[in-house]
Amino acid sequence: MHDYFKKIYKDTQDNFYNLIKENIIKENKMFIVTANPETLMIAETNIDFKNALLDDKTTIIADGIGIIKGSKMLKYNAKETIPGVELCSQLFEYCNELKKTIFLFGAKEDVLTKLVKVINTDYPDAIICGYENGYVENKSDVFNKIAELNPDVVLVALGIPNQELLIYNNLDKFKKGIFVGVGGSFDVLSGVKKRAPKAFRNLHLEWLYRLLKEPKRCKRFFNNNVKYIFKLHSCKNRREN
Ligand code: UDP
Repeated sequence: MHDYFKKIYKDTQDNFYNLIKENIIKENKMFIVTANPETLMIAETNIDFKNALLDDKTTIIADGIGIIKGSKMLKYNAKETIPGVELCSQLFEYCNELKKTIFLFGAKEDVLTKLVKVINTDYPDAIICGYENGYVENKSDVFNKIAELNPDVVLVALGIPNQELLIYNNLDKFKKGIFVGVGGSFDVLSGVKKRAPKAFRNLHLEWLYRLLKEPKRCKRFFNNNVKYIFKLHSCKNRREN
């Protein structure tokens, strides 16, 4: 667990956004994983995913409060969350301001079509150089197509860990680009699903809203979060002993 927490970005959301903007302008390549407790617990049972997370080329940010609490508990003190859905909007904003290109990969076709409309309306100078739904058979072929387009920003919404593994395994095909696995963000930003109301977000209860809306997530959520709490406690004790 310490390896993950050492790596997790510890500064503020604003400073992280500035770093991304600078990387877009300088055409630096960046692979961002938006982590929650489930991400770390899946990595514990999936060695390829773990290697991808711990690679020097990978940047991990705290998507939710569980990671901030874990970071504090193990004395790494990450400052604040950077939710994937907000990062996604910020990237649209930068592409608009800097007239940069975006490729959208993942989610259902109707979600993507709606999202493209939202981006064209709200971020008119952002250039969508292509998009593909996440239910195509050969996902590596899509990445070959993306590589030819050479976008500034590549957002992949296929769920953890598939989105991260796909990005990681194809990263060498690219010279530039900000790559992010964005989970259910396309569903929210397209307007197909609602984000948790502000009251839930302010209380750091976005996860609870999601469980209430999608109870089928409960089993995965509780399994991974219970494991996470136990792991954190055992790491804390080992460090202090
Ligand atoms: N998805 C996809 N192809 C698949 C499986 C999932 O495009 O084969 C999309 C799905 O439509 C949704 C996103 O991936 O838009 C997964 O969102 P979820 O919130 O489940 O992500 P997670 O919590 O696993 O990060």
